[in-house]
Amino acid sequence: MSDLLKPVTAFLARDHGLFIGGDEGPSSGGERFDVLDPSSGLVISSAASGNAADVDAAVAAARAALPVWNATSPARRAELLWNLGVRIEELADEFAQLEALDNGKPLSELHIVDIPLCASLFKYYAGWVTKIEGETIAPMSGAPFHIYTRREPVGVVGAIIPWNFPLLMCGYKLGPALAAGNTVVLKPAEQTPLTAIRLMHLMAEVGFPPGVVNLVTGFGPNAGAPLAAHADVDKITFTGENATGQKILEAAKGNMKRLSLELGGKSPNLVFADADLDAAVAGTFGAVYWNQGQCCIAGARVFVEASIRDEFVDRLLARVAEVNLGPGLDANTTMGPLVSAEQRDRVLSLIGSGVAEGASLRIGGSAPTDAALADGFFVEPTVFTDVRPDMRIMREEIFGPVAMVSSFTDEDEALAYANDTSFGLAAGLWTSDVKRTHRVAAAIRSGVVWVNTYGWFDAAVPYGGFRMSGFGKELGREALDPYLQTKTVWVDLS
Ligand code: ADP
Repeated sequence: MSDLLKPVTAFLARDHGLFIGGDEGPSSGGERFDVLDPSSGLVISSAASGNAADVDAAVAAARAALPVWNATSPARRAELLWNLGVRIEELADEFAQLEALDNGKPLSELHIVDIPLCASLFKYYAGWVTKIEGETIAPMSGAPFHIYTRREPVGVVGAIIPWNFPLLMCGYKLGPALAAGNTVVLKPAEQTPLTAIRLMHLMAEVGFPPGVVNLVTGFGPNAGAPLAAHADVDKITFTGENATGQKILEAAKGNMKRLSLELGGKSPNLVFADADLDAAVAGTFGAVYWNQGQCCIAGARVFVEASIRDEFVDRLLARVAEVNLGPGLDANTTMGPLVSAEQRDRVLSLIGSGVAEGASLRIGGSAPTDAALADGFFVEPTVFTDVRPDMRIMREEIFGPVAMVSSFTDEDEALAYANDTSFGLAAGLWTSDVKRTHRVAAAIRSGVVWVNTYGWFDAAVPYGGFRMSGFGKELGREALDPYLQTKTVWVDLS
């Protein structure tokens, strides 16, 4: 097990507060909640439990900071975002330890994805700050008008984020929101508040003006719901489960808030017989089990062409058997615990439904028997075969380390299976046929299609779902649009 860095130990012992207008302080209700290490179930820290009055104060601070942030020159705002990205890179070890402790994921995954991608997001959006431009529009029919557009920030943004990529989600939301000139109230998930708190310290150190980002830690109903309903919040950007997204839609209607909703998925992963089988097995393993399967993009509905199905399943089972469950902080760990006891119980119950509905459980399926892991929230990596499309495990998002493998006989059948879901977030396709690649990629109803790879992200590449997976792209230039509004100005020159 890695020893904790001194700053991490000191940080865990702090009396973390809310961050409102640049000041850290307790919730107005004085309440706090425990932060657990999901690999042991032990309390590692605690955070302030925000309420509606705290949200009011945070929104007021964000509103007050809006003119300050907009009066800050674009060059300076760009510099602040860039410097934040640099500092996250410099503190990668510290952030990784904190996240591994708080969320449970392995350090190796944090160093490959969460931390560098988060840093790159701040750097990428730093580049956009100085390039947000309006247009001049030629007068119609020779009328004597000078017409131009201004790209203005939406205003105060409420960012409500989940526990599966806690620090990274801060980057997804704060990068474009701040680049576009908005101020923010950030509400991290109650299971994983620590890296967002650490980020607030870093933003102050880097020199962001007070109130540009305010942090209200706490629970969904107490802190998230009042933010979603707040009359002085202009936009909510949310990542989380569909039931919560629907509550946010309802809460947002009072003042017609702008919304970006990044919701669930039930992504298909199609493996054709002409695929490179080694790559397909390795890629499918990552598609299903990365982050303990707690990914909205998890490509866990695996459809394999019938002629290679048995060999594919044998190889996947062999790969899964190599998994080393353990705490995220242990260098030997290749899969950590789920984030909470509640999440573990949900996943185990869905696995139980698969067994009850007649799917064949080929490996895993329960909590590990290893006594050293007994107090953590672990679930063994699991593979089902003989699944039917109507089973709960094929229709509901599991958000755990569970693969459902079945077969198809031709491309039409593969596509029908792929699109047999109300979600539309992502899809995987494994084939060496270039014509098939483009045919299938066009026919799949999802916001992302990965071909002969799975799960890649880049700050510059738009990401987001179709259908029940939500709306409002993240990442890339497109992600700026939902944080901006266009004003047209008509000047009569006659
Ligand atoms: P999960 O159930 O897997 O924790 P959620 O979608 O409920 O996923 O959580 C994502 C984020 O939404 C968290 O920050 C959570 O606190 C917040 N949240 C939960 N319920 C609400 C709600 N009613 N209104 C606003 N935010 C909420």
